[in-house]
Amino acid sequence: MLDSAEGSTAMKNELGGKGANLAEMCNMGLPVPPGFTISTAVCSHYYDNDQNLPKDLADQVLEALQKVAGDMGKIFGDENDPLLVSIRSGARVSMPGMMETVLNIGLTTKTIPGLVTKTNNERFVYDAYRRLIMMYADVVMEKAAGIEPEEGHGIRQKLESMLEDFKKKNGYSKDTDLTAGDWKTLSVSFKTEIKRTLGSEFPDDPRDQLWGGIKAVLRSWKGKRAVNYRRIEKLPDKWGTAVNVQAMVFGNTGENSATGVAFTRNPATGENMFFGEWLTNAQGEDVVAGIRTPNPLNEETKTQNTKHLTSLETSMPELYQELSDIRMKLELHYKDMQDIEFTIEDSRLWMLQTRIGKRNGAAAIKIAVDMENEGMIDKKTALMRVKPDQLDELLHPMLDANSEKRATFLAKGLPAGPGAAAGRLVFTADDAETWHKRGEKVILLRKETSPEDIHGMHAAEAILTAKGGMTSHAALVARGWGKCCIVGCSELHVDIQKREVHIGDTTLKEGDWITMNGTRGNVYKGVLELVPTDPNTHSEYKQLMKWADEVRTLKVRTNAESPADAQQAIKFGAQGIGLCRTEHMFFDETRILAMRKMILANNEIDRRAAVMELLPFQKNDFRGILKAMEGLPVTIRLLDPPLHEFLTLTDEQIQELSEQVGKNKSDIEKRIAGLHELNPMLGHRGCRLGIAYPEITEMQAQAILEAAAELTKEGVTVLPEIMIPLVSTVSEFTDQEAIVRKVAQDVFTKFGIEVNYMVGTMIELPRACLTANEIAEHAEFFSFGTNDLTQTTYGFSRDDIGSFLPDYLDRKILVHDPFQSLDVNGVGKLMSMAVALGRGVKENLKIGICGEHGGDPASIQFCKDNRLDYVSCSPFRVPIARLAAAQAEL
Ligand code: PEP
Ligand code: MG
Repeated sequence: MLDSAEGSTAMKNELGGKGANLAEMCNMGLPVPPGFTISTAVCSHYYDNDQNLPKDLADQVLEALQKVAGDMGKIFGDENDPLLVSIRSGARVSMPGMMETVLNIGLTTKTIPGLVTKTNNERFVYDAYRRLIMMYADVVMEKAAGIEPEEGHGIRQKLESMLEDFKKKNGYSKDTDLTAGDWKTLSVSFKTEIKRTLGSEFPDDPRDQLWGGIKAVLRSWKGKRAVNYRRIEKLPDKWGTAVNVQAMVFGNTGENSATGVAFTRNPATGENMFFGEWLTNAQGEDVVAGIRTPNPLNEETKTQNTKHLTSLETSMPELYQELSDIRMKLELHYKDMQDIEFTIEDSRLWMLQTRIGKRNGAAAIKIAVDMENEGMIDKKTALMRVKPDQLDELLHPMLDANSEKRATFLAKGLPAGPGAAAGRLVFTADDAETWHKRGEKVILLRKETSPEDIHGMHAAEAILTAKGGMTSHAALVARGWGKCCIVGCSELHVDIQKREVHIGDTTLKEGDWITMNGTRGNVYKGVLELVPTDPNTHSEYKQLMKWADEVRTLKVRTNAESPADAQQAIKFGAQGIGLCRTEHMFFDETRILAMRKMILANNEIDRRAAVMELLPFQKNDFRGILKAMEGLPVTIRLLDPPLHEFLTLTDEQIQELSEQVGKNKSDIEKRIAGLHELNPMLGHRGCRLGIAYPEITEMQAQAILEAAAELTKEGVTVLPEIMIPLVSTVSEFTDQEAIVRKVAQDVFTKFGIEVNYMVGTMIELPRACLTANEIAEHAEFFSFGTNDLTQTTYGFSRDDIGSFLPDYLDRKILVHDPFQSLDVNGVGKLMSMAVALGRGVKENLKIGICGEHGGDPASIQFCKDNRLDYVSCSPFRVPIARLAAAQAEL
């Protein structure tokens, strides 16, 4: 056990966060009410010894209490000038609201009169007494005694309803209307009710109250809330809580008293301004609970809404100055923004708490960069102060937090595309496009999306689907566009015929407004306020990213398939394209017809003719992308998805197609039926397409290399990397590689120049990892496709995981979605093996990752540790990946 003045922040494990910081503030000479901390070791002893306290604790506590009383010039339990104490919990990490607190310990029928005389404030004393009775009965006599009343029937609720009845009977509306006599009467009735309900007397001995309080705090470590919280946060049970016993100071003794909470800088914007709220004649809980509207701390942080309220700066200028000085001292000492609690008792300032303040993304960046500029922290520390995902807030429009609090919640799904959006509901991609053209903001709601919906998805502000997981098509595309998207929202029951959706008892129709928070996966009714963002206007963001780029060794590329995406990604700092998925280029109306002709062809000659219709389009696409990425490497993947995706057609569309291609409707239907696969993800896709239809590979290789040759002739530096997908054996790779190399020779002869290019492969099947040495004999680079690798390692369908993942996460069968954050133990082991086998053959083999994990900070750390050359992610995750790659070095 330790005196406040004996500890330090470094002793968090023994003193808990609160106790350690109180001790540290004492060391700094700040005004902290005297107190002592019973260490976490006592808590461990208590539980290891059948809930018995160490023998010598009683004497130590008594001695410490005498010292505290001496410092305050009072005596604990004294009839004339009694010391009152608070008893609070404090684990080594903050567990907000999970454990118990008892205030005003030491008030008894004997000590009350003395305190009344001393304070000359009978109302204050009886108000303090009834607060003690209420808190003590609840925390010590009920919860700590293991009594579990039915919901709503606890002693606290009983006493509160007695208070309400009393107020009604006397025509009072607020607690402040009650007089000293009223509180006195109520405290007697409270004690009678406690005896009746709990069967024992409210203790009238200060020492009984003290030990009751200490034991109750120790027991709250094993209370339901605390146990659940530790399970969720994965905190060990053995840590135990410390118990802080501290002299009470009161902010509610009159108009010269006050209480408040403050941040040393603005936690929402990061501005270097002292920011907080305070109330005169109040206790801390009054500020936090919002019972009264608190006042602004100072003049400079007043807003439109608070400009009429009195600031502490004007009301108590000297005390405000003292608090401001403390603010500076604390920041200089902790070298971070602090969240503090203070109380002013009869014009004397006391510090009750300090801790690292929570902040949003924009504030985190500003505070980190400002503190480096002020010389308070170094660059490394500044880089570590911002969580990469916090950058998201600067890249997408966000929901206004206040309007979100007041909103009507409809449903929750997987947060696939961060940011926020509001729009009117539409149920088909065509409707989305039509409505959008008329200038409407729409949200496209689908059971699931297919690549056919792409135009509607593009037109929509946001995408909402009932099915699908984080790497489902809709999610991938939405993230690529930086579009808000929620998938796997299983509470949605879509009736596409009626154009309506049922969510529990609510029915929404076409045209109804909803708002989505894609960062949290929440859907709300109506239109909520959005706050727009543009990172490049944010100078601290630019500074932080510059530092990140200086530190990191891992390169960051982007997954992009259009020049516009490529340009966006360059703005965000991409160093190349790690994955250009060519299939999305085929869904354009003019191209899809050629594609369908190709699929419907009966012989090679017709098929080749159809494929070659696509050549000019593809060449143009590649020109655009290679040019946009001038001088940077561009990995282009050959066609990957199952062919039937190009032929999901309605009856009418089949009829139309039959007219367009001059084929029988029934022949088309037969072909479509023939393409049907039970398990398309494991079916005829990836390099298996190019093996069955080599002309596809030829056409794509020719388009890439001709675009490259043309640009080279025009003086543009291009670095195309041709990538063969879904390879499981080296022979698949060499089959496709041979086609590409042959085409390259022909193109170079035709253009009379040679172009630098590479042929490599995706590593996205377990067998490719296991035989990476064989593949590396031929492939010039590897790129991990961790979406498919995760799918095939677990055997979880990436498009169907949404149906069972919530249960898996709830029951801790999985700790996270493996499609979001790399499964290091399984998938990661295969990756490490592939890196070692590949580089064993080719020491400098270029290796990257282009699965969704390439934008996940934890997975990026793994990639760095496994010596990958780059990660590739959607344009809007590029800044996040840059910062995460820097942090991986530190
Ligand atoms: C992958 O499988 O990780 C990948 C990038 O390819 P796709 O998502 O297109 O299957
Ligand atoms: Mg793949």
